Amino acid sequence: MFEYRAFLIKYAEIGVKGKNRYLFEDALVGQIANALKKIEGDYKVYKQPGRVFVEAGKGSIDYEGALDALKRVMGVLHICPIYIVDSTDLDKAYEEVVNYIGECYPTESFTFKVMAKRSNKKMPKTSPEISADIGGLILEKYGDRLSVDVKNPDKFITIELRDKAYIYSETIKGEGGLPIGTAGKAMCLLSGGIDSPVAAYMMARRGVKVEAVYFHAPPYTSERAKQKVVDLARLTARYAGNIKLYVVNFTDIQLAIYEKCPHDELTIIMRRYMMKIAEDLALKDECVGLVTGESIGQVASQTMQSLLSTNAVCSLPVYRPVICFDKQDIINISQRIGTFETSILPFEDCCTIFVAEHPVTKPLLAKIEKDEKKLDDVIDELYKKAVDSVEIINCEPMEVE
Ligand code: ATP
Ligand code: MG
Repeated sequence: MFEYRAFLIKYAEIGVKGKNRYLFEDALVGQIANALKKIEGDYKVYKQPGRVFVEAGKGSIDYEGALDALKRVMGVLHICPIYIVDSTDLDKAYEEVVNYIGECYPTESFTFKVMAKRSNKKMPKTSPEISADIGGLILEKYGDRLSVDVKNPDKFITIELRDKAYIYSETIKGEGGLPIGTAGKAMCLLSGGIDSPVAAYMMARRGVKVEAVYFHAPPYTSERAKQKVVDLARLTARYAGNIKLYVVNFTDIQLAIYEKCPHDELTIIMRRYMMKIAEDLALKDECVGLVTGESIGQVASQTMQSLLSTNAVCSLPVYRPVICFDKQDIINISQRIGTFETSILPFEDCCTIFVAEHPVTKPLLAKIEKDEKKLDDVIDELYKKAVDSVEIINCEPMEVE
């Protein structure tokens, strides 16, 4: 089997960002280097016009581990394991391509097309000539099981001749999206459920740096419920990078709402205070948006009228990436990114403890605002206490098998 020691990274949209392009490329290079830090091997990550290379130094490397890490870096469209020949000599390149094919595919049968690209126009041959030469040499040696198909080949065998010869034949899909942080920062309301980690992941995919806030209600919600949210943040961080998790003690505010406000409006009023506190924390942390895992109609507090009432307390834009997703579509993403199994652990959530039997599904904002006034004599103090006592947990990417 051929042992790769380098990768060519192709990116999509960041290629079209005009004069800010270097910012995107530098973020991508930094994030790739960071993702490989914990992987066995000494990797050099560098950019060339339009692409990024990852090259291992001497010593053994964890190829599968590196590939897996690269697949989770936002902004990476395609990953091509690549063989780099440190020579500009054409005959040497020919010989190496043929050997490479033999080692990579010792028994397989497939159709192929050779794609040669030369950046050095002073070479004695043109790109089509080089492609034809190499195709001929491959057929000479492996013609019993490989054949050429220029229209619809099973594999493209690419050789780029620049300062060195770069040879590759596999393209592996990456995450796509944009490098984290290039789009700004947002605060995600992260519960222990299925939807909000998916929402955070989707924002991160668009280049958003995500921080998170979790509202808990001890002793009604347990340490284990909180640990579950920390774990979810760490699982999400495998894609989104480190997440700062703000843990807000919401008990006293919830008890006050329970005591003073109509029970059918409990969830809405509670959610309004969550959004308000989240916005406060977001503004202090230089976030320019909030993120939730809300989806229209999923529960009473997520009808469009309910969303109108919760949205009304915020001045920051609220991003709801899964707003029009069916539950199963959200579940599919959570399974793919590895948060699902943790999300379904049966720990209590503060929203489900103080829940009304018959919550309003069409709350009127004016009525909610009026009923909320019943909290006037206590809320300022409780609000301040909740914000002042916030605990901050730095959630680093979890290592999973
Ligand atoms: P999820 O799976 O994300 O928990 P859900 O279907 O349980 O969603 P709700 O409980 O109504 O929905 O919550 C809607 C959104 O409100 C969540 O996606 C999350 O963004 C936010 N949220 C709810 N509860 C909390 C909490 N305890 N802490 C932080 N955010 C919360
Ligand atoms: Mg929930």
